[in-house]
Amino acid sequence: MSAWIGLPEAFVSRMRTLLGSEYESFEASYKTERQYGLRRNLLKGTQEDFLRLMPFPLEHVSWAREGYYYDAAAQPGRHVLHEAGAYYIQEPSAMAVTEVLDPKPGERILDFCAAPGGKTTQIAGRMQGQGLLVANEVNAERAKILSQNVERMGVANCVVCNERPERMAALFPAYFDRILVDAPCSGEGMFRKDEAARGEWSPENVRMCAERQALILKEADRMLRPGGILVYSTCTFSPEENEGTISAFLRSNEAYCIEKSGLEELFSPGREDWIREPAPGIEHTMRLWPHLIRGEGHYVARLRKASDFVGKEWPLSRKMCKGNGIDKKLCKLTEEFLKEELEVGDRWRSGHPGHVIRFGEQIYLIPEDMIPLAGVKVLRPGLQILAEKKNRFEPSHALAVSLSDEDTGKDTGKRKSLDKQEAETYLRGESLPCKGRKGWIVLDYEGYSLGFGKASGEQIKNHYPKGLRKSL
Ligand code: SAM
Repeated sequence: MSAWIGLPEAFVSRMRTLLGSEYESFEASYKTERQYGLRRNLLKGTQEDFLRLMPFPLEHVSWAREGYYYDAAAQPGRHVLHEAGAYYIQEPSAMAVTEVLDPKPGERILDFCAAPGGKTTQIAGRMQGQGLLVANEVNAERAKILSQNVERMGVANCVVCNERPERMAALFPAYFDRILVDAPCSGEGMFRKDEAARGEWSPENVRMCAERQALILKEADRMLRPGGILVYSTCTFSPEENEGTISAFLRSNEAYCIEKSGLEELFSPGREDWIREPAPGIEHTMRLWPHLIRGEGHYVARLRKASDFVGKEWPLSRKMCKGNGIDKKLCKLTEEFLKEELEVGDRWRSGHPGHVIRFGEQIYLIPEDMIPLAGVKVLRPGLQILAEKKNRFEPSHALAVSLSDEDTGKDTGKRKSLDKQEAETYLRGESLPCKGRKGWIVLDYEGYSLGFGKASGEQIKNHYPKGLRKSL
């Protein structure tokens, strides 16, 4: 270990060789504090309201329109607005990756290595509920956290899977318009933020990560349609895992070329002089250095697959999304429940295109373009709207957090605004006094939906999920 900064010796020695005279300023960045960031949820509220409500100072991140720096003392994870999905705490450099992916509403997008969901939820914000977002995570425990974050942020058009990369590739041949591979890596760029990452580092691990990245990219290629965009990112500095992985991929996949992202001026170019056989255009990939920008270390590359590339599975896959067990009767019952019990207007349904399906005892709205779910390990097939309980329906928490005050009306019998103290009482799982109302009510704080309660005429029984309850 390098004594005063606690970095692995072999890492320090390699960075010293690579960076030369720049090394001193790189090393000095470990003596400065890490950067703290959060990202506004573009699916909820307006920017104006968000900035008015945030109780601590924010400073804009120049490369992400919804990104802000905050001061460490602010503790944004302990606030009602965080629980309400108004924002996601995310390291500022990580926000650049979605900017490079540039997701659009209506597309089919895969986030291939997605947990805990920072980029998935940012992509969802850009998609504005339109199109299909598939978020996959190979690790079952991490996939659960991903699924919870997708729910908290009120994302309706996201299918969360827990599959091995090769299994996903077999299920979604040439299917996606854009794919993000935010690859598992040796994490050198996080050494300032996360001291534990330093202890896990070794040259052997760097080599293993590079091998794994090559395998993941190979499977990603099988799922990208001709003309599609593939974005590769890591939070490490090692050339093997960055320029090396991308150059090797391009050598064996001639359908791809490196594309500029438009952010080149903000960051540093990929280094063709750091690897043996650099691919053409490697200087258009980007490095984010902690001593040059206000963020941690990252690498991002944007590749395009040739539109005249004819793979053996293209264009058959466009016909795949039929037969998801669509049940017209169930659809009618669900729509009646939404109208009659919750007074949800037609705007919500038209803004959430998709099919109503039964998944066990839960009723989900699945994105229109999703393939049949059989054979996929799915944690969340879309937006959970209702649960069936002994021949009656109960609205689900995920539905509540996806409903805005435009969907339910601001001051109706079906929506109640809470002040901060009442909201904190609700988040602890306690009931609230409320005379004269009956039935399901969406409880909100400053327009951000928190969850359901059921009014009895005297009080509102708390339906905030037990696993989420907390004292702030
Ligand atoms: N994109 C995430 C975000 O923004 O919140 C971070 C992803 S993290 C850098 C990489 C993820 O890849 C981890 O969650 C890890 O479990 C997953 N992973 C590990 N091994 C993998 C493999 N062989 N194939 C696919 N994903 C893997």
